[in-house]
Amino acid sequence: MDRSADSPAVVDTDWAFDRYEQVRHRLVAATFPTAGEPVDDVAAVAERFDGFVLDAFGVLNVGASPVPGAVARIAQLRRAGKRLVVLTNGATRGRTAALATYRALGFDFAPAEVVASRDLAAAALRVRAGLLWAAAGGPAPDLGDLGVPVRDLLADAGLFARADGFVLFSSAGWTRDHQARLAEALARRPRPVVVANPDLVAPREDGLSLEPGHYAHLLADELALAPEFYGKPYAGALRAARARLGPDVPPARIAMVGDSLHTDVLGARAAGMATILVTDHGLFRGRDLRPYVDRSGIVPDIVAAGF
Ligand SMILES: [Mg+2]
Repeated sequence: MDRSADSPAVVDTDWAFDRYEQVRHRLVAATFPTAGEPVDDVAAVAERFDGFVLDAFGVLNVGASPVPGAVARIAQLRRAGKRLVVLTNGATRGRTAALATYRALGFDFAPAEVVASRDLAAAALRVRAGLLWAAAGGPAPDLGDLGVPVRDLLADAGLFARADGFVLFSSAGWTRDHQARLAEALARRPRPVVVANPDLVAPREDGLSLEPGHYAHLLADELALAPEFYGKPYAGALRAARARLGPDVPPARIAMVGDSLHTDVLGARAAGMATILVTDHGLFRGRDLRPYVDRSGIVPDIVAAGF
């Protein structure tokens, strides 16, 4: 097979975009407007919506730093009576730790205002609680909040052979050797692969990191297995976010605010929501968006420079 996706020399927006297009058949389908409406920021269009689904990485934060102005924008939307929910594919840490991180960044989200793909994946594990699950969760993983026993794959290499299923929460500490061992183990004995973060990359202070979705798509390419993806752009995540906003808010009065075409915009359009792509701090920071929109056909309703 073509190994160029396996160990990319440069992980940048162009690489991520091309790779998302290569795996597009594993994402969701949606229709789009012919052109996005450019605005300065979300405040310019806030009156059109009653609820906002907010991406975290690239909108609220970049790595461990808050996006400038994001805390004030959240406060402004609250004052205007808007309902808010954070929908994040960040799955490394449990809900309590994630909420503490938002607090430390200056955000005041209540527990009910956060939908994490990690929780959706955990629910999928709990229905098969009798299985021996092994997780890639980073060094010293936080596996106590899942409601089902999950073992640390990085701490016990014997689990590659013994586990009944695998869960990818985090790519921290995940090496090419781990990936090769997992592929070999699955080739020998196919087992479920649950992906708690379907993103290929995430924006960090020093560039883009490779995320669990990247490794899951490699397995799918190589072994013709079908990973179970939880999070954006998949329907279950958007459904969960919408449920938090309340049944009285119709999808057309909900805007998903995100920085990614292939997760935020694609998923929200498929769910019937409006979409606002912010370009100043996330994946498309410092780039002309147009060629990416033209090539993918994924067109946000609104393109906002800032949040
Ligand atoms: Mg993002």
